[in-house]
Amino acid sequence: MPNCPMCQSEYTYEDRGLFVCPECGHEWSESETTEEAMVVKDSNGNVLQEGDSVTVIKDLKVKGASGAIKQGTKVKNIRLVEGDHNIDCKVDGFGPMKLKSEFVKKL
Ligand SMILES: [Zn+2]
Repeated sequence: MPNCPMCQSEYTYEDRGLFVCPECGHEWSESETTEEAMVVKDSNGNVLQEGDSVTVIKDLKVKGASGAIKQGTKVKNIRLVEGDHNIDCKVDGFGPMKLKSEFVKKL
């Protein structure tokens, strides 16, 4: 739960889609809270979106696999996730995989 934007109370609760502060009585909707959207950028600084296709810009070693994902490998239909490896995808020949956005380029 977000703190109350009026009095910073931690004791807010949700009621029928609204956040309610029991301390000052303030009510507000979720869309008013300033939650930062996750932005994932590729090696060129282009913003990536769910479902984008990318290419790998350098050979990437894969733990537990015999080979590496080769530079130039195309990866379709990426998903964006939080964390250090912020791209969730399926790489042909390797299966489900998480990649770092800094090692890919948007197609
Ligand atoms: Zn309040």
